[in-house]
Amino acid sequence: MKFSSPQRRATTPKSSIAWRWMINTLSVVGVLLIVANVGIYYFTRQFYYGSAENYVLSEANATATILSRLYEDLAVNYSSEIREVIESFDKKDQMEMMSVNSSGEVTLSSSGFSPDSSYYMPDYEAALKSDDGVGVFIGMDGGENILAVTVMIAQPSSNYSALRFVTSLSVIDGQLGTITLTALVISAGVILLVVMTGLYFVKSICVPLVEISTTAQKLAKGDFSERIAIKNNDEIGALSRAFNDMADELENSETIKNDFISSVSHELRTPLTAIKGWSETLALGYDEATFAKGMKVITRETDRLESMVEELLDFSRIQNGKFTLQMANVDILAELDDALLIYYDKAGKENKTISYNEPQFICVVYGDKNRLRQVFINVIDNAMKYTDAGGSIEIIAQRTDEQIQITVSDTGCGIAPSDLPKVKAKFYKANSTRRGSGIGLAVADEIIFMHGGSLDIQSELNVGTTVTITLPLMQKKERNDNEQ
Ligand code: ADP
Repeated sequence: MKFSSPQRRATTPKSSIAWRWMINTLSVVGVLLIVANVGIYYFTRQFYYGSAENYVLSEANATATILSRLYEDLAVNYSSEIREVIESFDKKDQMEMMSVNSSGEVTLSSSGFSPDSSYYMPDYEAALKSDDGVGVFIGMDGGENILAVTVMIAQPSSNYSALRFVTSLSVIDGQLGTITLTALVISAGVILLVVMTGLYFVKSICVPLVEISTTAQKLAKGDFSERIAIKNNDEIGALSRAFNDMADELENSETIKNDFISSVSHELRTPLTAIKGWSETLALGYDEATFAKGMKVITRETDRLESMVEELLDFSRIQNGKFTLQMANVDILAELDDALLIYYDKAGKENKTISYNEPQFICVVYGDKNRLRQVFINVIDNAMKYTDAGGSIEIIAQRTDEQIQITVSDTGCGIAPSDLPKVKAKFYKANSTRRGSGIGLAVADEIIFMHGGSLDIQSELNVGTTVTITLPLMQKKERNDNEQ
């Protein structure tokens, strides 16, 4: 079978967070700035042009009023008075005043120059058509923007039918240009500021992410040495911390796994060596006593191998979720008795004392009797294993209305406080000087948990260990229901 590592998707510049952030933010900021700039230009233009128009209109109306008064004064020569008004116009530096005859031609101008007869005057055309006799034009004329206002004279003569006021808008346009340019420069500054602060911010996210991804790739290749430096206490800091915790866990499991493989190999080798040694000895010839001794060792070591393989299989079933229980009403104290029977003899031979005052009550638990016996064997076996010659093991069974509590206490080597929380974890061995795969307690804990009980361990180094197994009792009614 060929294993291939998963294809890592490369981050292209266009799929990077920085790029996506740039596109999103710049489009929003860009649109807002365009709207703001167009708005500023439009409203300032309206304001400036509107003020200029009002000013020229008030001048035109004032002049038209003066002409009406002059007309009413019969003593004066009306035409020469109009000429006099135009020629002596006192705002020549701001605007030009013209008179227009009934054919729409300029007859006189305050500037002294008269445009040719084909001179196009949209404001004059508008004034002719309007009810109030006023026409306004803003637009290009002779290469610059002009504002022209025409007012019809109330009492026209053939030479003077309208007055026209024209002013250049180039100064206003210049001011508008300066304002627009200033707004554009400010907008460019805003964009630059947004890009710089944004890139700084995005960098503070992207750099640690790249670091995390590089370290993750190293982890995937089995290099557990690298960790992420935590610079900030923010979400990235929390992610880095979680990542480091995960790396610690992986490193830890890797070490535990390696220790497990080596201890299991060692555990398998010891009985295999004994079996092989005795088989070879017996094959060379034997007397009856040697044969009996050899077969005893072979049987004992085969049993040990079998129980270890069973334990490993159980563990693998638990891992796969295929561990099942054959549930029935179980006399739990009878199972404890059975388990203890195996060890009385052994304890005597190893100079250890087992004390157990069998209680006089019957406790029925709904469970798998073989699995429960297996738990007792596991716990008593540990007590025996970790207690030196001369030590003692005490078993006490106590019950309440609802539960049974069995404690197995020994005067053995005990467990260090730092190891105590981990001894129920799979593959964990706190003491590598004794036989064992490090999964016995993990399996026992799982079995008790599946029965709705708990397995607690208290221990003091060099003093002893107490394992407490608590199981819920079958109530009478439940028992009857089950038996029917
Ligand atoms: P093992 O097969 O190594 O005994 P277990 O899962 O049964 O594995 O136990 C895990 C670890 O817990 C052991 O390696 C041992 O260090 C510790 N332990 C369990 N029971 C006892 C005990 N009664 N006294 C001292 N240490 C114990």
